[in-house]
Amino acid sequence: MKKDLRSMSLEEIKELMIELNEPAFRAKQLFEWVHKKGIESIEDISNFSKELKEKIAQNAKITCLNLKTKQVSEDGTIKYLFALEDNNYIECVLMRYRGTKSKKRNTLCVSSQVGCAMGCGFCATGLGGFKRNLTAGEILSQIYTVNNYLKIENDDLMVGNIVYMGMGEPLLNFENVLKSIRLLNELLGQNISIRRITISTCGIVPKIVDLADLNLDIVLAVSLHAPTDQLRSQIMPVNQQYPLKVLKEACIYYVKKTRRRLTFEYALVNNFNDTKEHAYVLADYLKDIFSHINLIPVNPTVTEKFQRPQRVKIQDFLEVLTSSGIEASIREERGTDIAAACGQLRGKVVE
Ligand code: SF4
Repeated sequence: MKKDLRSMSLEEIKELMIELNEPAFRAKQLFEWVHKKGIESIEDISNFSKELKEKIAQNAKITCLNLKTKQVSEDGTIKYLFALEDNNYIECVLMRYRGTKSKKRNTLCVSSQVGCAMGCGFCATGLGGFKRNLTAGEILSQIYTVNNYLKIENDDLMVGNIVYMGMGEPLLNFENVLKSIRLLNELLGQNISIRRITISTCGIVPKIVDLADLNLDIVLAVSLHAPTDQLRSQIMPVNQQYPLKVLKEACIYYVKKTRRRLTFEYALVNNFNDTKEHAYVLADYLKDIFSHINLIPVNPTVTEKFQRPQRVKIQDFLEVLTSSGIEASIREERGTDIAAACGQLRGKVVE
């Protein structure tokens, strides 16, 4: 089977070039074409001879994504649905932040799996079950493909921030996610600082510990969504395996090992987890963890079962947290008019 160049590290490309009896500098050039310039075909390499390109193409290929559909939100957010080579579908979401020069950025929310086994109650991806892990090349292809669209549009900014928050639980595809992060960080590749990369997890405790031990500068975001086991287990089955107490120990370990502030995500759902009492219990849970919590009024398009609380309730909830010394803010989801929450577009097209 042909190797996928987008899944290959510089070392692996060097080995390939040695097998093909080519000098080492060719490996660097090939790596740049693949991981920096994001070419979609070996044919596009302009400084290799036809013979060399044919020799590489006999042994390797470039994973490409096939755009099935896209939706553009009023706020400029773009959601893409891509078909993989095996005809499975994945989504990614481009968020274009504009405004002052220093705040201007393009952030891409990428998928790490086809489907997801975690079954969170508010998530369209979870409803469809798990199909398979993405390779590192398939994860990176989302970034390279969107960058190629941005180049066509003459956008002066490429994707500079990545969030592993699309379809799938990234910590359950640990090796491929880490490999893709290391490749994004390569000087000869995208050269994206690891500090600009966020992994979002529903709380896979042993993997949080493994990630802590690697001591990378990744931003880790943990989806909490409820302050008690009784409530959390209702919407997040993972809580039965890794309840809040165990999750808290892992979070404290992560902060201690990495000295980095954790991010928590809390989707506020009307009459479910949004009372002042919930906020006090949450404040107590968070008080020993160096963290920031994002309160996200739930996207009402996910399912009618989950409605967003009224503005005054959201403000009261925030007030309880901040007055208890917890760093918290309200984060409005982007692209709500195009159902940008993960899995929704795929769900519609597959239906
Ligand atoms: S929210 Fe994330 S972890 Fe939960 S089911 Fe959806 S994709 Fe999986």
